[in-house]
Amino acid sequence: MIKHGKPVIDLSECVLCDICVELCPDVFIKNSSDYIEVSENVEQLLYDDHGNLINPSLLEDIKDAIKTCRGDCISWDEKTETKSV
Ligand code: SF4
Repeated sequence: MIKHGKPVIDLSECVLCDICVELCPDVFIKNSSDYIEVSENVEQLLYDDHGNLINPSLLEDIKDAIKTCRGDCISWDEKTETKSV
């Protein structure tokens, strides 16, 4: 059983304060339209091929961004999968 997840932004609540980008620039990116998006590589940055966490400090940075977000609009989308090894 593997548990992993990634941050998701509700753009309708985002106030574009840029705190998430400042706290965690590898994950939260301001795109060319000036909206915040989550890096497509976030799961590769956090987990190895078996779903094991390889970057706990990055996970802490993401949690800080979730806690600090002015729009309270970043949530953690957790997935649990059963994978045969
Ligand atoms: S911290 Fe929250 S409100 Fe601020 S830019 Fe990031 S997602 Fe938007």
